[in-house]
Amino acid sequence: MSLTQLNEAQFDFKDFRSLSNEILNMRIRNVKKLLGDRLQILGHHYQQDEVIEHSDLRGDSLQLSQMAAERDCEAIVFCGVHFMAETADIVANSPQRLEDRNGKRVTVMLPDMKAGCSMADMAGIRQVENAWEDLGEVIDTNDITPVTYINSAASLKAFCGKHGGIVCTSSNAEKVLQWAFERTGRVLFFPDQHLGRNTSLKMGIKDPEMCVWDPHAEELGGNEQATVENSKVILWRGHCSVHQMFKPEHVAQFRADHPGIKILVHPECPREVNDIADVSGSTGKIIQTVQAAPAGTKWAIGTELHLVNRLKKEHPEQEIHFLSPVMCMCATMYRIDLAHLCWTLENYAAGSAVNVIRVDDETQKWSLVALERMLKLA
Ligand code: SF4
Repeated sequence: MSLTQLNEAQFDFKDFRSLSNEILNMRIRNVKKLLGDRLQILGHHYQQDEVIEHSDLRGDSLQLSQMAAERDCEAIVFCGVHFMAETADIVANSPQRLEDRNGKRVTVMLPDMKAGCSMADMAGIRQVENAWEDLGEVIDTNDITPVTYINSAASLKAFCGKHGGIVCTSSNAEKVLQWAFERTGRVLFFPDQHLGRNTSLKMGIKDPEMCVWDPHAEELGGNEQATVENSKVILWRGHCSVHQMFKPEHVAQFRADHPGIKILVHPECPREVNDIADVSGSTGKIIQTVQAAPAGTKWAIGTELHLVNRLKKEHPEQEIHFLSPVMCMCATMYRIDLAHLCWTLENYAAGSAVNVIRVDDETQKWSLVALERMLKLA
């Protein structure tokens, strides 16, 4: 396929919707061939297989952004969700990387702008700023480190950068909290209460030293003043709609039905599940744990469905189950399908970048401060 041919193609998304997967696969492969190393397609671990098949890199959100930033390309198509594409833009177009490329920006695109994250949406920047102001009325905010999970909007990462805070991932949350407590007596952790709580409990922080901040409550996040004053960790009332679905009764059922089975969960799962699991860890740890296990190991895994199904396929020597009778998949990430990918690629190849994710300079600058604090801990 030549650039001219692409320019003659239809670019309205509705014309891609009815195409068969066979045609879409062929057209995606053609654009990839045409653009070669100029393009990087990034596929998040939770992405559906048919999209993953076209990805140049597969990983979690931060890994993907870092890997893409290290490579020379002119465009990134992020098959993940909105905050991931923002992180890719921040990292791939950092001042250092721009200097390395003589000022040339990498264009970051998200094939469907509706691919958001329900957890990230539970903490808006105005809500966090209001909470900070309200907290300042009862405790000294100089004694609070704001910590945002990487699954959050760039504006929240920038908030953390500006206020002496930091970003964390599910694999380094404990290290990040330790860093925070070396500086201040308290932490405001957002947007995922479960990761914040599970990590704090692991570090020996007790229930009475934590409170939950409800951004919709009228006063003090729904807390008494004394509760906030006594809290070391203030947990934002947010959660992942996928990991929230796993329940202790699912664990009990698997243990009853499959003696010897091991329960492996992500720390975005509620505490009641996390506490009784055999292993709890980030997406990377879940993958490594399965890879390292001997043949015949039985697992019930509590994380996103597409990843569990892929592990099942890639490790037929083990017995892998999904830890829920109901489907728990990331419905927003699932919006990125072959039709959206093909539409994005063909438009780009024809000289028109669609769904470009561009973080403004000020937000990028402060987000990088918070991200770099985290990266230095590695
Ligand atoms: S799995 Fe949960 S946290 Fe991850 S992108 Fe989907 S909704 Fe967001």
